[in-house]
Amino acid sequence: MARTTDVVFAGGGVIGLAGAWEAAQRGLSVRVVDPAPGRGAAWVAAGMLAPVTEVSFGEDELAHLFAAAAARWPGFASRLEAATGWDTGFRACGSVAVALDASDRAEIDQILEFHHRLGLDASRLTPSECRALVPALSPSVRGGAMMPGDHQVDNRAFLLALIDGCVRAGVELNRDRVVSVSLDHAGSAAGVVTDGGEIFLAGSVVLAAGVDTPRVGGLPEGVVPPVRPVKGHVVRLHAGAREAAFPHPVRGLVHGRHCYLVPRADGSVVVGATSEERGYDTTVQAGAVHSLLDDARLLVPALDEWELVECIAGLRPGSPDNAPFVGPTAVPRLAVATGHYRNGFLLTPLTAESLAAYLATGTVPPPLDAFPADRHLPAARAGSEP
Ligand SMILES: Cc1cc2nc3c(=O)[nH]c(=O)nc-3n(C[C@H](O)[C@H](O)[C@H](O)COP(=O)(O)OP(=O)(O)OC[C@H]3O[C@@H](n4cnc5c(N)ncnc54)[C@H](O)[C@@H]3O)c2cc1C
Repeated sequence: MARTTDVVFAGGGVIGLAGAWEAAQRGLSVRVVDPAPGRGAAWVAAGMLAPVTEVSFGEDELAHLFAAAAARWPGFASRLEAATGWDTGFRACGSVAVALDASDRAEIDQILEFHHRLGLDASRLTPSECRALVPALSPSVRGGAMMPGDHQVDNRAFLLALIDGCVRAGVELNRDRVVSVSLDHAGSAAGVVTDGGEIFLAGSVVLAAGVDTPRVGGLPEGVVPPVRPVKGHVVRLHAGAREAAFPHPVRGLVHGRHCYLVPRADGSVVVGATSEERGYDTTVQAGAVHSLLDDARLLVPALDEWELVECIAGLRPGSPDNAPFVGPTAVPRLAVATGHYRNGFLLTPLTAESLAAYLATGTVPPPLDAFPADRHLPAARAGSEP
């Protein structure tokens, strides 16, 4: 049996790793158990940090949560970079939204209105202003908007920095699959059990296994919030020796379909993403890749010449109201951190900070306290004992 820690995380994706790192910063002893840390949905993601463009009309409360999350990014990235020496690829570069036809243009105008209603900065762009900002854009682009608050992080560099940060902060990393939560005689969480039969005891257990969170065993019904897998394909292209001409991420509307192109410092671009309800299937499908490439090359015709370096699919942990589940459950000493859906990166600093605060004090601070982890469960409200 391994040494007891203050907290054990079942799952070391972007949420588990960042939560573990923040908890270790507060002086807690921390263990992360994951067969492949950082290789879940987070490895596939594009790393857009888009507080408002990701919100639908009517989701004002969510928009405020996302804005609070975005505000934490610069500080979190610089602390992690200072602790590890890594460049996480966080860039406060703003994004350009572009429209390919008149109805796409009208949709962007509506998004602009929503931005302005929330008091956020965003401005309309003419077609030539769009091309001045992103020279690679097609002459067919009908106009767009500058979204100065939508930034990006290099998802993979950030994950590698988090793993390094955890190791430097003394977090124990165990490459095992958690099969169940171990409960003590009083029904409180006491640790996790791995597929190898090992038990890792801890003062608190945090389930942070993305879409697999509800599949961890050993718990009564109605404790783990409902999370569903939402499949997303992305493709990665590389400019090779060509001029990339891509200073900002581009969010395109292509005859009503959404598409984004996120440039990386190494001359590659991430094109995404599909959104499909297909259960736990992560196979890469030709039709999805075809439609992503089709839309991307309508926005940036020069992509035809770029090298296709990767096609990959992952599963976003979706929640019924598109908000995450972070905090205590009905089982004492058991917390969850999942359901981050399309915005796991955007929400990472806020989630990590809130989890660490909860583990240290027993209280989830605002603004995440407005989204209790049991809000979609029929059972009584969860206790707050970490
Ligand atoms: C195509 C696509 C594009 C995306 N683009 C963006 C974007 O631009 N911006 C943004 O903010 N978000 C984006 N996301 C969403 C983001 O990736 C997720 O919200 C985020 O990864 C969720 O983090 P997580 O740690 O909860 O889950 P994951 O990243 O999936 O990590 C879960 C971890 O749990 C581990 N695990 C699973 N089962 C077990 C077990 N039984 N025991 C131990 N460990 C286990 C896995 O190995 C994995 O490491 C995108 C997602 C996809 C799929």
